[in-house]
Amino acid sequence: MKNWVEISGARLVENFRATRAVAGNDVETLAVIKADGYGHGATICATVLAKAGARWLGVTDVEEGAKVREALGEGATRVLVMRGGELGDAAALVANGLTPVMWTVEHVSAMEKAARAAGQRVCIHLEVDTGMTRQGVTVGDALQKVLERLAESRWVSCEGVMTHLCCSEVAGAKTTVVAQKLFAEALAQVAAVGLKPDFVHIGNTSAVDEGSTMQWVRQQAKALGARAMVRAGLSLYGYCLPIEIGGGGTGDARLQPKVKPVLTWKTCVLGVSDVEAGTTVGYGATFVAERKMRLALLAAGYADGFRREASSGLGNGWVMIGGKRASVVGRVSMNLTVVDVSDIEGVAEGSEALLLGDGVGAEDHARWAGTIPYEILCGIRGTRLLR
Ligand SMILES: *Cc1c(COP(=O)(O)O)cnc(C)c1O
Repeated sequence: MKNWVEISGARLVENFRATRAVAGNDVETLAVIKADGYGHGATICATVLAKAGARWLGVTDVEEGAKVREALGEGATRVLVMRGGELGDAAALVANGLTPVMWTVEHVSAMEKAARAAGQRVCIHLEVDTGMTRQGVTVGDALQKVLERLAESRWVSCEGVMTHLCCSEVAGAKTTVVAQKLFAEALAQVAAVGLKPDFVHIGNTSAVDEGSTMQWVRQQAKALGARAMVRAGLSLYGYCLPIEIGGGGTGDARLQPKVKPVLTWKTCVLGVSDVEAGTTVGYGATFVAERKMRLALLAAGYADGFRREASSGLGNGWVMIGGKRASVVGRVSMNLTVVDVSDIEGVAEGSEALLLGDGVGAEDHARWAGTIPYEILCGIRGTRLLR
């Protein structure tokens, strides 16, 4: 194994507890482990988090949900399937004890058919669109039709009503004000048809970190006789986006200082070579040594998730070897990368290099690649080891 990922179960638990504490112990914190646990391994994370007391987990789809259910057994842990809209999945959702997010009359009908066939009443969470224009039903007539369909159903129970914010990391964002107004209208419609959901949920890591929405959703849930819920992913893995200042917000992060990265990504040195000034390195000969250098060849490249934008002259990325930075030299190749170890003593074939970990974070990779930490974490290949 030349390229692997170590997951700290202890850190994952600490981050979950910190997220739950900042969200408030009266708020249900759903742990989002979709997209293979943001690259950390969905079943590894599910097992660790369920043991640490997580009552709700969020997965991408029915396939991921089935794997998680198999790993957890039929216990009390609930699993929310966050990407909805696949009418053909209804029977598998019921069979695996998964709870879907849905938002159309057709979704409800498909679920009802599957529930009746299984002879088992099922729960769903209804998503309302308040400005993402992605999943969710729009407030007003369309919502009314779905609510009436749910209110008459003997087989499908509306356990949760949810929405998702587009700018939760921006304190005082206008879009959040609009979303709150729309969601409050939606909840009034829910109450008017006589539905009594157990959970009302909005927001993600940044909503917990920024804080203002949490207070708001608590009040909304209480008015409906429900419990507030938040769906946190990124913070569990030790990261938060910076809180931006919108129209008058403070920008204080409540959660960010309390979480630590869970994932360490390692590779090994395949060999070390000393080169003379004038030597070219990598595709395109984009790097020419200006002096004598010692270079180390690493067993990872862009096919493993080490982004090509980390190349020298592009993002100017680095890895950590022996606690020191080793800069990327030339272009990152498919499964190989060359780094500068001229100033690092004792590097040899078999030495360990940190591609991501202490001294090189997902934010650094994201900056080199012009993206967000989420995409970096999801893109890491390699065996996951729980430590
Ligand atoms: C992914 C996702 C989340 C979690 O977001 P984080 O920023 O990682 O906390 C919450 N809600 C929905 C609907 C999502 O798709």
